[in-house]
Amino acid sequence: MTPSPVRVYLGLGSNLGERATHLTGAVQLLDASPGLSITRASSIYETAPWGDEEQPAYLNMVLEATAELAPGELLALSQSIENTMGRERTRKWAPRVIDIDILLYGEHIIKAAELQVPHPHLSARQFVLVPLLEIAPDLLLPDGARVAELADPSSRCVVWYAAAPWPQRHRGERA
Ligand code: AMP
Repeated sequence: MTPSPVRVYLGLGSNLGERATHLTGAVQLLDASPGLSITRASSIYETAPWGDEEQPAYLNMVLEATAELAPGELLALSQSIENTMGRERTRKWAPRVIDIDILLYGEHIIKAAELQVPHPHLSARQFVLVPLLEIAPDLLLPDGARVAELADPSSRCVVWYAAAPWPQRHRGERA
């Protein structure tokens, strides 16, 4: 049975090679995937590495999408795109060609071993919150916090880098 459509938010990051090209490629692969349709894309931001700080700067962006996929299916899709794009899994917080995180899956709270939603640390990561502020300022996190209250657009760790690599269109409008 196909799950009912759910609004989801995904966080994308890259800090190896042609970083913007990797983000654009991931956006295209995600939107071309059955069961997933992108509705909004943020600009691309250059951001300071988080966790292990001895690595190249990241480019990050977030996507809003409509998913007709169960959470596990969305995780499997994200990981298969990461693998297709040459992601190598070495150590936690290692540099990466592409990282795709599930930030929010509707208002669901998921605490499985392989999937935690909202994504852990979402509320503490300006490299996610600042792009989210751009596309969904009124978004409420499941704990009731508003993105607009958490995001700090003056953060020096998150710098606008390039326009969204995706045509902006109104919700529900076909490309
Ligand atoms: P990362 O190194 O950030 O790509 O982390 C990948 C691991 O995080 C995988 O083993 C996933 O199962 C796990 N994970 C837990 N929650 C999430 C989430 N919300 N989005 C993506 N990966 C997740």
